[in-house]
Amino acid sequence: MSSEFDLIARFFTRPAPNAVLGVGDDAALLAPTPGTELVISSDMLVAGRHFLADADPYPLGHKALAVNLSDLAAMGAVPRWATLSLALPEADETWLAAFSRGFFELADRYNVSLVGGDTTRGPLNLCVTILGEAPVGRALRRSGAKVDDGVWVSGDLGAAALGVRYLNGQIMLDTADAALCQDRLHWPEPRIVLGNMLSCVAHAAIDISDGLLADLGHILECSGVGAEIEFDRLPAHPVLAAKRADPLIRRCLLAGGDDYELCFTAPPDRDRAILAVAQAAGVSVSRVGRITAEPGLRLLDGEGREMDIGEKGFDHFAE
Ligand code: ADP
Ligand code: MG
Repeated sequence: MSSEFDLIARFFTRPAPNAVLGVGDDAALLAPTPGTELVISSDMLVAGRHFLADADPYPLGHKALAVNLSDLAAMGAVPRWATLSLALPEADETWLAAFSRGFFELADRYNVSLVGGDTTRGPLNLCVTILGEAPVGRALRRSGAKVDDGVWVSGDLGAAALGVRYLNGQIMLDTADAALCQDRLHWPEPRIVLGNMLSCVAHAAIDISDGLLADLGHILECSGVGAEIEFDRLPAHPVLAAKRADPLIRRCLLAGGDDYELCFTAPPDRDRAILAVAQAAGVSVSRVGRITAEPGLRLLDGEGREMDIGEKGFDHFAE
């Protein structure tokens, strides 16, 4: 049986070239780039709540970091360092090897160094803290939306939520579609490059983790504005595109969660700049509506009629 220290040394100790001091001392030492603000976010993934206890550890390692990177993307920040705190029911080395592979493959792609953490025995629980930087005063906030801004969404929506419903047996999918949805659920791609480039053109941003309606709702609340969203403009994942009228599919698009796309607002005269930035970042973006002075979120159908918003975003305490 390996000790906690052996496990840390074998699976979580790597060179941290962008840190003054990484894993192995009582604390890490980091030297933020002069002229930047530190941007910090934590996300906890709990077995039985956010994933199944027997979930494949390789994608789990990816996702534990990806959901944190997504938060930095929404701030327009450059990720640099991470800490990883694990509660593990047992020291399963096969599990740890696969988990750390998923974690470090993504970390390496964005030059993120793992600089510390904690490892303890307990019910399976994964907590990543991500640290990044943004030039002073340039981070994108939820509170920056202005009346008449366009409302934009990156990538496409709904597939991860449909994947969850497929796993729960709520919907049948053919093998190919099921695989596409599982892929989105387990391997979210944080929109770091897009978020970094948007910090110069967008007014406000959030990442879509709880569903578009809930997360856009946070921008509206923080900015003291409202919005009109055109349902037909929402970018549905190809598996959902032909069935958007179906109530379950609609729920996945609007309130599904786990999309990890960016929702952002920008002045109406910046459409071309945004499309250019998105192209440079290699991500599609769709303008789905506009910010209004009238508070609240209105969802419009193809004829401009207001649709009933029965769906609310996934709320961990509402069930
Ligand atoms: P302490 O008892 O001082 O808290 P620990 O024994 O918990 O120290 O950790 C030893 C070193 O290993 C520290 O640098 C800590 O940040 C790091 N560490 C512990 N667990 C992890 C982990 N899961 N991933 C990365 N670093 C870790
Ligand atoms: Mg400790």
